[in-house]
Amino acid sequence: MSKKVVLLPGDGIGAEVVREAEKIIAHLSDHYGIGIETETHLVGGASLDAHDIPVKDEVVEACKSADAVLLGAVGGPKWDDYPSDKRPEKALLRLRKDLGLFNNLRPVTVFSSLKDASPLRPEVVDGVDLLVVRELTGGLYFGEPKEITEVNGEETGVDTMRYSVTEIERITRAAFDAARKRRGKVTSVDKANILATSQLWRKTVTRIAAEYPDVELEHMLVDNCAMQLIRNPSGFDVILTENMFGDILSDEAAMLTGSIGMLPSASLGDGTGMYEPVHGSAPDIAGKDIANPLATLASVALMFRFSLGHEKAASDIEEAISAVLNAGYNCKDMSRHARHVLSTSEMGDKILSVI
Ligand code: ATP
Ligand code: MG
Repeated sequence: MSKKVVLLPGDGIGAEVVREAEKIIAHLSDHYGIGIETETHLVGGASLDAHDIPVKDEVVEACKSADAVLLGAVGGPKWDDYPSDKRPEKALLRLRKDLGLFNNLRPVTVFSSLKDASPLRPEVVDGVDLLVVRELTGGLYFGEPKEITEVNGEETGVDTMRYSVTEIERITRAAFDAARKRRGKVTSVDKANILATSQLWRKTVTRIAAEYPDVELEHMLVDNCAMQLIRNPSGFDVILTENMFGDILSDEAAMLTGSIGMLPSASLGDGTGMYEPVHGSAPDIAGKDIANPLATLASVALMFRFSLGHEKAASDIEEAISAVLNAGYNCKDMSRHARHVLSTSEMGDKILSVI
């Protein structure tokens, strides 16, 4: 039974890191006889340049009919001044919405060999292994009205925070299901002392939690969570939160590891899942063969686990990443913590050699 994976390299270092991922996918497909076919399409600035649109309908359709999508990154200074409907990032919002990707998973793991890369003391981050479950298709990102209008003769910006019970229920179940396979604790993060959406969030999460008596639930206000992530990050297992809070908290959690270049993500819904590194297109280092591909390779591991149903291939990649880091290899962004500094392509080859 063959599988189809759509590759969307995008812009900047996106193309460089996805090239390494392609090698690993091909290797594991052959090794396990999975029969993965890949298909590459333009997205973001690359698509704007070629087709004057951030993502073509036929690319969205190709993604919908695939088993999984691997995305590099989109954007860069060249497109910064484009009007809002022609921004590279529009491609991401369109894909998330059209693929129904409401469940964004961002695992944050501090590798023991890299605990002194963190801006926090090594003993504070030692053993940190948490998962941010971020709602991805609701809240301030999509709520209408969303506009700049005139109020009392003055320019006024309006965004709308909106969540339905159904939207909260499905992301809550995703978080509790994930917690069951981990250490069995969910921290639901909201601003229930102020926001109506958060009051509905807290009530709904509490009700769904009753279906999971084996999982511990705590509620935490978002400001407190921002503080606890710095004070005692190993106190967290699964953090469940809405779209905007999740965006901010996952960047904060990412920095516990000391590098944005090593964190993967998965975006899941009822259909095709999409996988991408947490970092952006990094225009400052694009084209130099120095970008760290490990976030993308770890995203490929999540793809094998959640979309291709191949846990062994997923753990092969994760174990290879750990082994390579423990042996003292890393890329330029982590050179202070590496005995051997590798280029993007050398890192891809190194991982291949130990899988
Ligand atoms: P975006 O708006 O797309 O998120 P950004 O500039 O905010 O772009 P990144 O593209 O993630 O954020 O880059 C932030 C910094 O981290 C840059 O200095 C970049 O060079 C560095 N960086 C990001 N990803 C990597 C990587 N994979 N390897 C090495 N350095 C990276
Ligand atoms: Mg950024």
